Order: sequence, then structure tokens, then C-alpha cells
Amino acid sequence: MKPFTVRLRFHGDLNVFLGSKAGDALIQRRFAEKTSIKDVIESCGVPHPEVDLILVDGRTVGFEHTLANDAKVEVFPVQNRGTDRKEKRLQITGIARFVADGHLGGLTRNLRLLGFDVAYDQNADDRELLEVMARENRALLTRDRRLLMHAIVQHGYWPRSQNADEQTIEVIRRFDLSELIAPFTRCLRCNAPLEEAAKPEIIDKLEPLTKIYYDQFRRCPACKQIYWSGSHFPKLQKRIEEIRSRVRSKA
Ligand SMILES: [Zn+2]
Repeated sequence: MKPFTVRLRFHGDLNVFLGSKAGDALIQRRFAEKTSIKDVIESCGVPHPEVDLILVDGRTVGFEHTLANDAKVEVFPVQNRGTDRKEKRLQITGIARFVADGHLGGLTRNLRLLGFDVAYDQNADDRELLEVMARENRALLTRDRRLLMHAIVQHGYWPRSQNADEQTIEVIRRFDLSELIAPFTRCLRCNAPLEEAAKPEIIDKLEPLTKIYYDQFRRCPACKQIYWSGSHFPKLQKRIEEIRSRVRSKA
């Protein structure tokens, strides 16, 4: 077949995947055979879970759409919602279950601190991450964009920042989670929801001063870790408040 040219314009912060610094980025690609729009977009370095809206010559299409002729393509990220566009979006928000890759320990801890369900195994390989994602219906959080491009991935996110607090704010915004924050309800070590624990039940596990000064405890039913609002507590609360106020202020 006759080779054809696709001109793609990437909007919003999708340019982080293209290596271009500012503004909407324009890319031109030549193809010699029929190619799905998903593959065309990913050939530019942009993983499909980051793409919320695709227009081909002004018409909304899904990832399965194939190109065989010259075309103009506009690609929008999730963040560009709230414009006057009414088209059906490719991504959903409101997902509160995640699986994070082994490099995102800080982000995982933060999200658990805020009450979110994050599966995490520092040693999990790509295959295991994808398995947990699919089996438990979780969104994939990874800084490996190749992994995010895997066809089996429906929902996922590539944190822009390398800083755990910034990443946490990004994830809460991307998945619209600010109303679902429930601090100190989940085990930071193993992700299980915490239970109230009566002091007499756990008193033999406490340090002498903790026994004296604290009366309210939570316990992880899975790993048995005990939590109370000890000396570290005000610091954690301050961090949570900072994250909350940063999420609210549209930076
Ligand atoms: Zn636990």
C-alpha cells in the first residue's frame, strides 16, 4: 500500500513523554502499512493509559481505530477535562485501588497513609505486576513507560515527579481521589485495613511509656502491627494536611 503521513499534536503535559519542553508538541510520522492509533501514539513515546481523548481529522476515536491514509491526530491527556468538549473519554477517574512498581515505595507508603489500597512488592517483576493489576482490577502506577504501554493495561499512571509527595498529589488529582482520603485506616507495612484494638488485648505488646500515655490503638489484622498516635503523629498529620491543601490548590 501507499505510504502515508500522520501528523500528531500532543496536548497538555503529554509533552513530557516527547522530550519537548513547553507547549503543545507536533510530531510527524510516516507509515507503510495499516497501523492502529494506539501503536501510532505509542511510537511517539506516549503510553495509552495517559491518553484520554483522540481526535482523527476532528472525529473522536478509540484505541482500536486504524489509520491507512494521511491523517491529522490530536491527543489529549486526562488533565484537560473541564473544557467544553463533550466527547466520550477513554480513561476513567475514581479508581482507588492500585498496584505500584518496586521503585515507588515512598508513593505507596503515602497513599496507604491516606487510606488507599496499594499492592506493593519491592521485588515483583513486570509479569507479576501485570498479573496483580488484572486479577485484582487495579490501576498500575509505574515510572516504566514501556510497561504502561503493555496491551493488557487499561488504567495506569506514570508519575511525572521523582519525589514521593509530589507523586502522591499527582495520583490524587489524576484519579480524583480527594474526597476519598481516610488517613490512618490502612497498614503502612502490608496494606490491610486497620481494626480498632482494645488496650487490654494488646497491652503486653506495648513499651512501658506507651502503656502509660496512650489509650487508643489500632491493629493490623494481617501483620499484627500496632498503631497509636505517638510522637510521630503530629508530623504525619502535618504532611497529610500539606498534601490535602496542595491537591486543593490547582497548581
Ligand atoms: Zn499490616
